[in-house]
Amino acid sequence: MTTGCIVIVGAGQSAAVAAHALRDGGHDGAIVMVGREPHRPYERPPLSKAVLVGAEEPRLDVLADDDWLRCNVDLLSGIEAVRLDPAQRRLHLAGGRTIDYDKCLLATGGEPRLLPWAPCGGERIHYLRTVDDARRLRASLRARPRIAILGGGFLGLEVAHSALAAGAVVTVIESAPALLTRFLPAEVSGWLEATLRSEGAHLRLGTSVTRVEPMGDRPLLLVTGDGERLEVDELLVCVGMSPNDALAREAGLAIAPGAGVLVDASCRTSDPNVYACGDCASQQRPGQQQPTRLESWQNANEQARIAAAAMLGSAPPVPPFPWFWTEQGRHNIQMLGLPAAGLDYVRRGDPASGKALWIGHRGGVPMQGVALNAGGELRALRPLFDRARPVPMHEFAQDHLNLRAWAKQLLAEPAATL
Ligand SMILES: Cc1cc2nc3c(=O)[nH]c(=O)nc-3n(C[C@H](O)[C@H](O)[C@H](O)COP(=O)(O)OP(=O)(O)OC[C@H]3O[C@@H](n4cnc5c(N)ncnc54)[C@H](O)[C@@H]3O)c2cc1C
Repeated sequence: MTTGCIVIVGAGQSAAVAAHALRDGGHDGAIVMVGREPHRPYERPPLSKAVLVGAEEPRLDVLADDDWLRCNVDLLSGIEAVRLDPAQRRLHLAGGRTIDYDKCLLATGGEPRLLPWAPCGGERIHYLRTVDDARRLRASLRARPRIAILGGGFLGLEVAHSALAAGAVVTVIESAPALLTRFLPAEVSGWLEATLRSEGAHLRLGTSVTRVEPMGDRPLLLVTGDGERLEVDELLVCVGMSPNDALAREAGLAIAPGAGVLVDASCRTSDPNVYACGDCASQQRPGQQQPTRLESWQNANEQARIAAAAMLGSAPPVPPFPWFWTEQGRHNIQMLGLPAAGLDYVRRGDPASGKALWIGHRGGVPMQGVALNAGGELRALRPLFDRARPVPMHEFAQDHLNLRAWAKQLLAEPAATL
């Protein structure tokens, strides 16, 4: 049992899961959580999906009421932490209050990357990170506007589907010549593009917006790099996220090349009493050349559990293979493992039928799995990824193969027989 004061900066996904894991792990002392938003910790994934299109807003709380009460967290919401003093083990809050801690967990997430010509909160201009952003966007979608979505990443495309479902006229503008090819095999990228077009979205690929005019209550006129002038009622800017690492940076803690609070395998920063998890943390992973940040729900949860265990001095859980899901309208896409250059992909099923599964491998060793409406099958293959040994890829593509039985059989065989 531990009894000191643990302060958690941020009150989002990983903060809530960390508080829960701390209590589960026997922490009996105070847990103080400082959150800039005026809300209890809530889930963000529905913000681009059900919150935009559902008849009613779904419940978003990360923890059910009884779990939250059991955590006995002193939540200071609507307050920003402005300075971290690791030498004094003290956190300074806006307004002058300070909190002395035994351990501090930075769970500060990130902010949308802003474009200088598209001011956050500007008339008809949207960014999407918080529930308040999502409510504002939802209200705008009610008028079935012409909306341009700048950025064809997972988030932008999720909103494109939601906006189509809400009856909007949707144009997606993406600077790359194809959608999401950094993360997905080319076939999935092509399928996404064809699906969006068939559902009525207009796509402008390989170009960007260079100017917007005029502002005020008139429609926006977007001017693209190739000279197109596009009149829209609303603009959503979805061009990535910057991690909130300023507290750590200004406190002199190590920052990863690029950005993000640098942490070790137990989510400890360069200060032994300060930990970081979730979207703000950058961690060295096996097989990766640089520390990486994973902006995903699973990562936020897993790193929160690892940090909690480490703060309590217990053995941290083994990190699972990275997993991510996205909902593109009625389609569910799941990814296991991280994309890497030069993977060979083998496909099973046919995306045209709405269901397919890809394994990206190197010399037969599965490195990335991508499931289109086939999450259950991908789950069955997970142990093959964990084991990191070659498997006979030519068998995987055979239609008649029972995947579960195949994976089970491979796992039972010694490596040399494969
Ligand atoms: C719209 C949307 C859809 C998503 N969909 C998916 C999905 O389909 N699948 C998936 O895997 N992932 C998805 N994600 C990503 C996932 O939600 C995030 O990875 C996860 O929320 C990260 O959790 P976190 O705790 O690190 O950060 P957050 O949940 O962002 O919480 C950080 C909190 O810290 C607060 N904070 C920051 N600085 C300070 C400070 N100085 N003082 C006080 N408080 C501070 C912030 O205001 C924020 O409330 C989505 C994200 C968004 C925004």
